[in-house]
Amino acid sequence: MKPAPFAYAKARSVEDAVKLLSQHGDGAKLLAGGQSLMATLNMRLSQPGILIDLNGIPGLDGIVLNGGDLAIGALVRHAAAAKSDAIARHAPLIAMALPHIGHPAIRNRGTIGGSIAFADPAAELPACFLALGGEAEITGPNGARRVRADDFFKGLYETAIGPDEMLTVIRLPAATADRRYGFAELSRRHGDYALAGLAATARRDGESLQDIRLAYFGVGLTPVRARTAEAALASGNIEDAVSALASDLDPPDDVQETGAVKMHLAGVLLRRVAAQLTGARA
Ligand code: FAD
Repeated sequence: MKPAPFAYAKARSVEDAVKLLSQHGDGAKLLAGGQSLMATLNMRLSQPGILIDLNGIPGLDGIVLNGGDLAIGALVRHAAAAKSDAIARHAPLIAMALPHIGHPAIRNRGTIGGSIAFADPAAELPACFLALGGEAEITGPNGARRVRADDFFKGLYETAIGPDEMLTVIRLPAATADRRYGFAELSRRHGDYALAGLAATARRDGESLQDIRLAYFGVGLTPVRARTAEAALASGNIEDAVSALASDLDPPDDVQETGAVKMHLAGVLLRRVAAQLTGARA
């Protein structure tokens, strides 16, 4: 199918984009890499009156270490992030996740900001953002504000970004020597959206793990923290943590798999990721 007709405007600054959003309200859509948006337009799941192209805005494609945070501009493409030394050193969880996103053509155009703003519940980067406890910088007519990852995902494809706002930067706590990261997903073929996946961080404290954050994807309407399992894992018993998932997750059936199978996969993923965090063999 072809998209319904739409007008097009190229924003030259964040202020310009926000002004256009305010003028056109719900009839406008922001265009970043287009890798999710164009599919929804072609299938006529969305019929905006105008597309506001963000690709002409300078300054949103930087990756900068600022104090203890790594700031990643919304327009950084997946492929650029995958080649970035700063991401590899300071945000290794993102580096682990990036090769699982689609295929090279998609990673060449898709952006970090587009993926997090779109908030597909089966996508890798929103879960990494949640596992890392990052912060989103969102800019609207009243200026910029920051929203913590724990408060960012509101529902299916719904985030804290208002209709007249855009995501400009995400900030992630930079890796430290005592931090551990784990990432695993199960999909039918490499590059497909995951049936279920898990992104995790923890602080290594002697033989134990503390400050554990487990963020599942593909098992709910948003990326989901498994808080009961986090507590059980901190007390050192992986089988207790797997059992605790029953309190944290209730995956709905979807076109790919039943909720019951996804629940089983969530336990498989937890064993694999816990082994990555502790350095043990899975
Ligand atoms: P766009 O498609 O341009 O925009 C997506 C949505 O976000 C739109 O609603 C847009 O208005 C909004 N938006 C974009 N930027 C901003 C911003 N800065 N502020 C506010 N709103 C914004 N993704 C995965 O995570 N895992 C996969 O396995 C995967 N496989 C894919 C396979 C195929 C065949 C395709 C076509 C896509 C796949 N994707 C996958 C999606 C891909 O990662 C997209 O790049 C990403 O989801 C959206 O990024 P984008 O820059 O292309 O955003």
